[in-house]
Amino acid sequence: MTSLNGTRSVALQINDLQVTYYTDAGRVKAVDGVSLTLQSGERLGLVGESGCGKSTLALALMQMIKPPGRIESGSAIIYTDDGAVDLLKLSEEEMRQTRLSKISYIPQGAMNSLNPVMRIGAQMLDAMQDHLPRASKRELIERAEHALESVELKRSVFQMYPHELSGGMKQRVCIAIGILLNPKVIIADEPTSALDVVVQRQVMETIRRVQEKINAAVILIGHDMGLMAQVTHRVAVMYAGKLVEVSNVREIFRHPLHPYAQALIRSLPRLKNKGVFHGIPGLAPSLLHLPSGCVFHPRCDRAMEICKIAAPPRSTTPDGRFVSCHLYDEQGNPTTPDQRGMQAHTSPR
Ligand code: SF4
Repeated sequence: MTSLNGTRSVALQINDLQVTYYTDAGRVKAVDGVSLTLQSGERLGLVGESGCGKSTLALALMQMIKPPGRIESGSAIIYTDDGAVDLLKLSEEEMRQTRLSKISYIPQGAMNSLNPVMRIGAQMLDAMQDHLPRASKRELIERAEHALESVELKRSVFQMYPHELSGGMKQRVCIAIGILLNPKVIIADEPTSALDVVVQRQVMETIRRVQEKINAAVILIGHDMGLMAQVTHRVAVMYAGKLVEVSNVREIFRHPLHPYAQALIRSLPRLKNKGVFHGIPGLAPSLLHLPSGCVFHPRCDRAMEICKIAAPPRSTTPDGRFVSCHLYDEQGNPTTPDQRGMQAHTSPR
């Protein structure tokens, strides 16, 4: 497990982000009040089951939410040498300039997004041209080849077509494109899915190395808690569009606070429990028909009366962990049965 050392500065601050999809079947709050702060050089794992809002959060930061989706409210301030800007307030043109240079996104299945009939080098030059209009072609080629080397590919890959590369190499090309302009924040959405386990580790190692080199903050989206344990500094757990816990990686694996985080960690295979698997009972709820109170209550093995009627508080512990659950008061201290009973009596239905 990794710890974040040295002096850090805030790279990205997300405040109360809300994203809604207006579907024929009704309104879906895909991201509901998410707040997060990332430091430069930090690797944050964003985990949760499919459909919990992880990718929607990433798309919102890139202003890539398409109708019927809409960013309802909130802010996402990115801090760069040029000052602080709210990503959600940028015009289309400003956002185009910001993508890649300040924040870059490596989407799910990125390697399939490479144009099969263009050489890798041409695709890299294309990505840079708008951002560096005054750079000579030689400078752009040098920058592209340098980025390829940073992800441990040979310079000769510049001349190759995607079909000449393995899956792992194509994924490295996508990472190289992502770091061409030294962004402050990199979002990698399931960057190792569809790769075999050995290549997964290599690709993750590549992300870690290049991110450290440019001191970028990374949001690593995925559901493989084992992988998160090895590469991230902190883990944020999402459930049904909400953040339920954000903790230092060491703490969340040793002593997860939220029952859903506890269940995710319990479900990891362990050598000493060979062949014994603990699944999480039930299914993630439809975002169209969310349960009342705490949205996790139908699946929670610690659910209480209060959980069915009132949304849990958002608590921050003195050591900076975040949890949203009735088992904790607003300072993150465990609540007593009496406190929970009193809350149940005073909470509106
Ligand atoms: Fe479980 Fe209640 Fe906590 Fe929700 S608020 S996670 S139902 S204990």
